[in-house]
Amino acid sequence: MVQTNTVQRFQQYIDGEFEDGSEHFDSVNPATGEVWARMPAAGAADVDRAVRAAHRALNDPAWASLTASARGKLLYRLADLVAQHALRLAELETQDTGKIIRETRAQIGYVAEYYRYYAGVADKIQGAWLPVDKPDMEVTLRREPVGVVAGVVPWNSQLFLSAVKVGPALAAGCTIVLKASEDGPAPLLEFARLVHEAGFPAGVVNIVTGFGGDCGRTLTSHPLVSKIAFTGGPETARHVVRNSAENLAATSLELGGKSPVLVFDDADLDSAANAVVAGIFAATGQSCVAGSRLVVQRGIHDALVARLVAKAEAIRIGDPQDPATEMGPLATLRQHEHIERVLRASVEAGGRIVTGGQAPQAFARGFYFRPTIVDCPHPRVPSVEQELFGPVLSVVTFDTEADAVALANDTRYGLASGVFTRDLTRAHRLTRSLRAGIVWVNTYRAVSPIVPFGGYGLSGLGREGGLDAVLDYTRTKSVWIRT
Ligand code: NAD
Repeated sequence: MVQTNTVQRFQQYIDGEFEDGSEHFDSVNPATGEVWARMPAAGAADVDRAVRAAHRALNDPAWASLTASARGKLLYRLADLVAQHALRLAELETQDTGKIIRETRAQIGYVAEYYRYYAGVADKIQGAWLPVDKPDMEVTLRREPVGVVAGVVPWNSQLFLSAVKVGPALAAGCTIVLKASEDGPAPLLEFARLVHEAGFPAGVVNIVTGFGGDCGRTLTSHPLVSKIAFTGGPETARHVVRNSAENLAATSLELGGKSPVLVFDDADLDSAANAVVAGIFAATGQSCVAGSRLVVQRGIHDALVARLVAKAEAIRIGDPQDPATEMGPLATLRQHEHIERVLRASVEAGGRIVTGGQAPQAFARGFYFRPTIVDCPHPRVPSVEQELFGPVLSVVTFDTEADAVALANDTRYGLASGVFTRDLTRAHRLTRSLRAGIVWVNTYRAVSPIVPFGGYGLSGLGREGGLDAVLDYTRTKSVWIRT
C-alpha cells in the first residue's frame, strides 16, 4: 500500500536523470482532501532542457542507430515492467486521483497490452517503391520519425492516455517529452522509473509535470517540437493549437465528449441497463467516453429509468483503495463544485433529479458525489448539453428513430455513442447516421490497441490507436535516384 502518514516526494525525469525540481506543488488525496505528496513543478527552463535533451537523443546513435526490432525489444521490456509493477502503479493512481483500485488495476493490464502492441508494430512500419513513369528513375518512399513529440495528458487515466502517445512515438523512432497533469501526476512520475529500468537511452523519454499555462505552453510552443499529441478539454485544446502556431507542429487532439446511448423499445433492457450504468458511473463519470446522455424510447422510459435508479442506488461508494468499492470520489474539489453548479442550473431549466444530486452523507471528507440521474423534458437542459465529467446521467426521451438520431447528434461533441436494439437492420442504419468517432452496438466502452480511437467536432482531431495513428509519428521522404 502507498504510505500516507508522511508526505511523499516525487521527481521529474529529464535526460535520463531523476531530479527534485526547483519549484513544487502539493498533491491532494481526493478521498480525504489531505495533502499526501509533493510534486516537482517544471517551469519553462526545465521544459526547455527536456526538449533539448529529446532533440539531442533523436540523432544520437544510441537511439538513432537502433534497428526497428531493437526499439521493439525495448518496448516489450517496458510492457513487462509495467505488468510487473502493475499493483504499485495502480495504487499510486488510486491514491492521487481517487479512481478506484478495481479500475486502476484493470486499466494497467491494458496499458501493458498497448505497449506490447506498439512493440510489435516497430518493425512493421514500412516505406514503398513507387512505379513512376520514368524508366531511368528509381523512386522510393522512406518513413522517418517525425521528431520530438510533446505529449500532454489530463488527470484521468494518465498511464493509459500516455501509452497511446509514448508507444507509437518510440515504435516510430521519435523521442518524447511527456507532461503529466498537475492533478494526479504520481503514476506517470513513477512510470519514468520503469522507462529508465527498461534501458531507453537518456533523453529518449522525458517526463515532467507542472501547470498548463507555464509548463504546458512552453512545451507545446517549443521550436524543437515537431508533433503534439494532446488529450484534455476543448478549451485547453484551443490554447494548444494557438501555441502550435509557433512551431507549426502536427497536432492531434483527443478531447471531451457528451456521448449518447440510444435505447430502443426492443432492446434487452437488463443488458442495456447494465451497460448504461457502467457507461456513465465507471471512473465516477470522469471518462471522456462516458455515456452521459441516455436517449430512450418513450414506451420503455419508466421501466428503464426505474432499473437505472435501483442500480445507481446500489453502487457501493467508499475508500478507493478498497477492492470492494464500486465508486470513489471525484478527482478534485473543482470538479465537485462544477457538477453542483451545472445541476442547479439544470433543475432551474426543468430537469428533475430522480436520484443522487448531492454528496453522500456518510462521506464528510473527500470529493464524493452520489450517482445522479436527471430526467430532462428537453435537450436544452444544461446537464444534457455540457460535459460534466462526473457521475451524472441525463435522460431525454424520443418517439421515432429519426428523433433519436436528431437528439443524439444535437451536440458539438462527437466522441462515442451506443445503440441498444435487437433490430440489426436499424443498428446498421444508425452506425451510418450517428455523428461520432465510435459507435458501440449492444455494448459500450470496448477498446483495443488495434482499433482507432478519436472524435468528431469538438471531441478532437486525428486518431490514437491502430496502425494509421502510428504513421502520424512518421513523415515520408521521397528519394529519386537516376539509374
Ligand atoms: P485540461 O484540458 O484542463 O488539461 C489537460 C492537460 O493540458 C493538463 O496536463 C494541463 O496541465 C494541460 N494544459 C493546460 N493548459 C495548457 C496550455 N495553455 N498549454 C498546454 N497545455 C495545457 O483537462 P483535464 O481537466 O485535466 O481533463 C479533463 C478533460 O480531458 C475532459 O474534457 C475530458 O473529456 C478530456 N479527456 C479526453 C480524452 C480522449 O481521449 N478524448 C480522454 C480523457 C480525458
